[in-house]
Amino acid sequence: MKKYLVTEVFRSVQGEGPSVGRDAIFVRFQGCNHDCPFCDEWHKTDWKEYSAEELVWLVQQEIADGPKPDRIVFTGGEPMLQVDEHLCQHFLDFTSASLAIETNGSVNECETSKLLSRYFTDIVVSPKYAESANPFTQAMNHATAVKVLVPLPNDIAMATLVQLEKGIHESVQLYLQPETPRGHIGESFKANVDAARELQLVLGMTSGRVRWRLLPQVHVWMELK
Ligand code: SF4
Repeated sequence: MKKYLVTEVFRSVQGEGPSVGRDAIFVRFQGCNHDCPFCDEWHKTDWKEYSAEELVWLVQQEIADGPKPDRIVFTGGEPMLQVDEHLCQHFLDFTSASLAIETNGSVNECETSKLLSRYFTDIVVSPKYAESANPFTQAMNHATAVKVLVPLPNDIAMATLVQLEKGIHESVQLYLQPETPRGHIGESFKANVDAARELQLVLGMTSGRVRWRLLPQVHVWMELK
């Protein structure tokens, strides 16, 4: 029986992207195919192995004492390294919430395309390398939103975002997310907001309209998980 490596299951408020403010249960998958220098997730070791049945049971425990959640969000790490049809079907069969996923967009096999189109309502792609910011990858083809961190991560440059905006479907929402440190809102956060704002305007000048929205990690401000 397949097991999935998961670091935590918890209920909170979505603090990023198009579903900001919505109630959600988050399933955080362990492991990633990248090793971004700013990341505090990929090297976590406090994961456990669960079957699809056990994971659904864990989520049901989170729901037990409260209302049904609006969304179940698969996040990570990189969830697409583990999520499969068996798991998605189990969640849809035993919970009535819709599924959302947050992915770095770098897993672009045939199976990825099938899973994303069949099971997920919200697909947020947050590319961490220029290769994944290509508007014609399978992951980008199914994206409902794209979220890019500021400062721009790794080899992503402004030219990458210009190409992405040009190639991606009009209906996809585009976000610049200034890195939002926990605790005191200090100079580094202000610098990130300034950089994101400048980028938003420069991208707007380049394409003739401002399509990128600027949104920090709202759950961090609210001191939520
Ligand atoms: S892609 Fe995301 S989870 Fe993976 S190493 Fe980079 S920041 Fe961390």
